[in-house]
Amino acid sequence: MDDRHFRNAMGKFATGVTVVAVEVEGSVHGMTANAFMSVSLSPKLVVVSISERAQMLEKLNQSGKFSVNILSRSQQDLSMIFAGQQKNQQEVKFERLGEVPVLTGAVAQIACEVSAAHVEGDHTLFIGRVTDIHIEELEPLIYFSGKYRALAEE
Ligand code: FAD
Repeated sequence: MDDRHFRNAMGKFATGVTVVAVEVEGSVHGMTANAFMSVSLSPKLVVVSISERAQMLEKLNQSGKFSVNILSRSQQDLSMIFAGQQKNQQEVKFERLGEVPVLTGAVAQIACEVSAAHVEGDHTLFIGRVTDIHIEELEPLIYFSGKYRALAEE
């Protein structure tokens, strides 16, 4: 099976879009990720999957803490910035939730401590123990088949 066929199939799973953010030595690094899910209610655990090619991998290992920011419909530009799809470097303001940087205007900000990291193939699964959550009543950004979408009205 070729890589494109596999990616096309996985792209048929409609997801939200998150930005994972960490702070290392006073500097904030963000990365767009849609490989995110809830894992456990008791204890409260989530997982993000990070490519071995991503700079985020080393930073997450160093920091041991991260936030997952579920993007709102109006934050497609942030998704593109943190996926390295914008040519011009842009300054993005972060606020704080507990000990981690978070994005203002996200549908949900989830603060986590790394509780385990599992290397699987060319990605590492970071299990995060959730330490704090902030929610806003906003519409989410959707990603499907390689394109950004919005939820349709019923
Ligand atoms: P870089 O490529 O260096 O950084 C990413 C971009 O963010 C750069 O342009 C950088 O300038 C900018 N940036 C970082 N911090 C800041 C800051 N503080 N202020 C302003 N700009 C900043 N990859 C995965 O591993 N797992 C996934 O689940 C995943 N899901 C994705 C979902 C979507 C919808 C998309 C579009 C991409 C996804 N990717 C995923 C790919 C991933 O987002 C990119 O490969 C990304 O560029 C990897 O980031 P990096 O850590 O290597 O850092």
